[in-house]
Amino acid sequence: MSQVIVMIRCKELKAFGYLLTQGRHCMRAYTIFRRLANKASRPALSRRTLLSCLLWLAVCAALGALPWIAVESMIANEQRAFDKAISTDAMSIAGGYAQYLTRSIEQMDQVTMHIKFDWEKSHGMLRLDDLVARGLFTAPQFVLVSIADRTGRIVTTTAHPEQSGSIAGHLYFQLHKNNISSALHIAPPEVDNLSGKTVIRFTRRLDANDDKFDGVVVLSVEPEYFSAFYDGPSVGNIDFLAAVGADGIPRSSRIGARSYTPTMPALRRIPAFGRQGAAGTFALNGGRWLDAEWFTDNERRFVGWQTLTAYPLTVMVGLSERERLLRYAQSWITYRRLAAWSSAMLVMSVLVAAFMAGRLARKKQQARSVQAAYRLATESGDEGFYMLHPLAAEDGLIMDFEIMDCNARGAALFDMTKAEFLGRRLSWNYSADDFSRTLVAYRRAMASGRYEEEVQYSSGSRSRMKWARRKIVRSGDALAVTLCDITEAKAQERELIRLANTDELTGLPNRAWLMKFLSTALEQAAQTDGALALLFIDLDRFKEVNDAFGHSAGDALLREAAQRLQSTLRPADHIARFGGDEFTVVLHPAGGESEAVRVAERIIQALGQPFQLAGGIDQIGASVGISLYPRDGDTAEALLKNADIAMYAAKAEGKGACCIYRQELYESIKARVGIERALAEALEVDQFILHYQPRIDAATGKLLSLEALVRWHHPQRGIVPPMEFIPLAESTGLIVRLGALVVEKTCRQLAQWRAQGLPLAPVSINVSAVQFHHGGIYDVLAACMERFRIGPEWIELEITESAMLGDHAGIAGKLAAIQALGIKLAVDDFGTGYSSLSQLQRLDMDVLKVDRIFTAELGKKAESIVLFKAIVSMAHALGMRVVAEGVETQQQAHLLRALGCDELQGYLISRPVPPGAVPALMHGALLVFDAGSRYAILPGSEIETGYALAE
Ligand code: C2E
Ligand code: CA
Ligand code: CA
Repeated sequence: MSQVIVMIRCKELKAFGYLLTQGRHCMRAYTIFRRLANKASRPALSRRTLLSCLLWLAVCAALGALPWIAVESMIANEQRAFDKAISTDAMSIAGGYAQYLTRSIEQMDQVTMHIKFDWEKSHGMLRLDDLVARGLFTAPQFVLVSIADRTGRIVTTTAHPEQSGSIAGHLYFQLHKNNISSALHIAPPEVDNLSGKTVIRFTRRLDANDDKFDGVVVLSVEPEYFSAFYDGPSVGNIDFLAAVGADGIPRSSRIGARSYTPTMPALRRIPAFGRQGAAGTFALNGGRWLDAEWFTDNERRFVGWQTLTAYPLTVMVGLSERERLLRYAQSWITYRRLAAWSSAMLVMSVLVAAFMAGRLARKKQQARSVQAAYRLATESGDEGFYMLHPLAAEDGLIMDFEIMDCNARGAALFDMTKAEFLGRRLSWNYSADDFSRTLVAYRRAMASGRYEEEVQYSSGSRSRMKWARRKIVRSGDALAVTLCDITEAKAQERELIRLANTDELTGLPNRAWLMKFLSTALEQAAQTDGALALLFIDLDRFKEVNDAFGHSAGDALLREAAQRLQSTLRPADHIARFGGDEFTVVLHPAGGESEAVRVAERIIQALGQPFQLAGGIDQIGASVGISLYPRDGDTAEALLKNADIAMYAAKAEGKGACCIYRQELYESIKARVGIERALAEALEVDQFILHYQPRIDAATGKLLSLEALVRWHHPQRGIVPPMEFIPLAESTGLIVRLGALVVEKTCRQLAQWRAQGLPLAPVSINVSAVQFHHGGIYDVLAACMERFRIGPEWIELEITESAMLGDHAGIAGKLAAIQALGIKLAVDDFGTGYSSLSQLQRLDMDVLKVDRIFTAELGKKAESIVLFKAIVSMAHALGMRVVAEGVETQQQAHLLRALGCDELQGYLISRPVPPGAVPALMHGALLVFDAGSRYAILPGSEIETGYALAE
């Protein structure tokens, strides 16, 4: 602001100066602006932005200058008017002054003329004091009137008391004396000796009668007399007023109230006034500016002058510029202030506008680069991108969309180029039905601003996608749509779901699927009050087949079983492989118990048919448990558990049966669980004892060895036979501990008998399949033999056929390791499993124990003898001893002996006996034959009636 004021004070180039300053401000503002802009965005301002900045600055400067130009031209106008006015004023005042002075001097002229006449008429007798007394010369301006004679001596004067003296020395005196003219002379100002005042003398020559010089009349007047005019209204306080004689000496001059004397002039130089106004002189009339250096008060003035026509005087009137300008200056200050304000405001608003425009430009630029980046991203992206414009009916309802823009990928998804694709309608891609569904989604996006979904394209669609993720976002009154081809992902997802829910082996749904399906089916059934039946199917003897023929045969069997199930059931029934050899069938809706049973029977019948396997034809069969919703449970878990229980019951009833769940079944299973727990406890406290059953030499009837058979000495139930707990121990894994216990008890018993000095017989120990495969039987045997110092010749192992089938190499290795200890191995229950003799030969077994069903057949059917004979001869060929189990009759004993069987075992000879009864068996023959080998008799017993050996 201070700068602005300084500018207003300056007379010249103010506006320009201000503009320069403004310009500097602008430059500074621009630098700051640029710096800010640089700071705001790292990349340098673009050329375009720079140019627009410069443009803004130019606009800023132009707008800033505008008020100034207006004001300054206004002021210039006023200045011109002022100049004109001041010159007119000065010259008219000068004119007035000239008239005034002429009149005043005319007065003097007349007075001096009057005195001259009076003087000449009175012949030098005129007394001036008389004239004073008559009232003349009373005006204050008259300082003194005197008359001097031809010598210059003053003869009369208005001074009081009259004074004498000479004026002969004065210039004017000489002038009049030597000049015949009687014209009035106006002398330059001089200091009057008598009054001490500066006076101007008006003098006139006095003539004698002969026209000779007779003296001079002198009228002394104060210079103020000339300038009394000054007090007029048109003259200002510091205006200049002067009357200059033709001699160039001012007669009077004053500035304001102050009068100046020739010694102290108001004008430093007096211009020469000439008629031509030649160079260096002023014209007789005129006006011009005189700069400050002309005046002793250093004030610039416009000076108007006029040379009097009647007298050799020129008047000058100088009007102070400063004083006259004052009334203008105030308004000019106001104008310039206004200009300053408005230009500041304009500049400010332009700067603000520039800033805003800059920001807008930046934003636009950013938006453009974002747009470019976005386009780049969408072009290179994998997603189809589209801009759609709604096409509305007259009532405003959107009926279709037009494709305004898309990326290349977007068109490619429809096997088109972008050019072909643009401008098409959305409806183009859909059948009428699909389009009406699609339109709903698009309308929803239009209303809510956003819509996202996965869409499946029907075969009628022109898209190459089958599945897409569609994102619709409203942008203004258009829609931005992104399509991502998820066909592959969907396929993978479906495949994953399928895999997660499918049993790979059979292709049937698996357990996971079943659980999900059951829960939804149950919900549905609950809502519709419907019934549902769950069939739990377990293949009988699958494990045996799997073990006998290997896993691939097992797998083939399962596949075949699954196929049979599928072909047995209606398409609406749901089959799943539950795991292992277990399948489930859900009948939903179910007709009731009878229908479920019918289905179960069909299943059993289908699975009961022989299976054609790689290892031969085999029959397996299945057991089915049935549970019904809502009667047997209302959750998937409950129904499954109960069907499973029913299935167990069916198995227990004799395989190949179906059983419907009943509460009692649950009870029996519970009992089984109770037994399991009791068995575990029995192992803890050792409630097991061993009984021993002898094996005798068929030839001599003497004891050859003993078989250790375990019994559970139950505190309440007494002696529990092994068939009641061995299978349970096997299925729970307790058999491993139980088996180890039997080995230990056997060794301990042998050691005890040895300690008692009894003759020892080898003891054979039964090893179950689980124990053989997982029980670490080798280590147990080795440890016990070592502990009780029992030699291997005293121990034999009995292993069932099925336990030895399966992984041949592994089993053979285990058997060989045991044999390497020196222990003999026997095949137990031969004839019930799947082994052939050649298989057994490869395993290098020592003893073959033929199952008691073969023994039981002997003597009943003729073929049984042939079969047994074949077994015996083949076993002998393989280097195995043959033991017949279950010999109950003398006839059997006799026949076996005749068939070449090596050893006999059975109730005929002895039931299994407690250890205390064993020593009694050790001496003598346990069976004797008559001399012709026709009869086999127990010592001390009768020959069986009806017993006769076939010849
Ligand atoms: P196994 O190995 O076949 O044992 C012979 C079974 O037949 C014994 O039944 C025995 O009492 C019975 N027996 C013997 N002679 C005759 C006869 O003339 N007629 C009839 N009907 N039966 C006869 P037990 O003691 O009830 O044993 C049954 C099964 O339990 C055994 O069959 C064996 O497989 C298993 N077992 C017994 N003790 C053990 C053991 O310590 N460990 C293992 N793993 N299994 C054992
Ligand atoms: Ca046995
Ligand atoms: Ca046996």
